[in-house]
Amino acid sequence: MVATTQRDGATWYECEKCGLLFDDESDAEAHEARCDPDEPSYIQ
Ligand SMILES: [Zn+2]
Repeated sequence: MVATTQRDGATWYECEKCGLLFDDESDAEAHEARCDPDEPSYIQ
């Protein structure tokens, strides 16, 4: 499930698996559906 967070007066959508932030909810949901928290490639 995508988390929402307020930052700089805007709503951001956060992947709860890896913490990546998106400014578009549908992008976040699409990412999270494919996100594998055991695959560290998203995290630098
Ligand atoms: Zn993710």
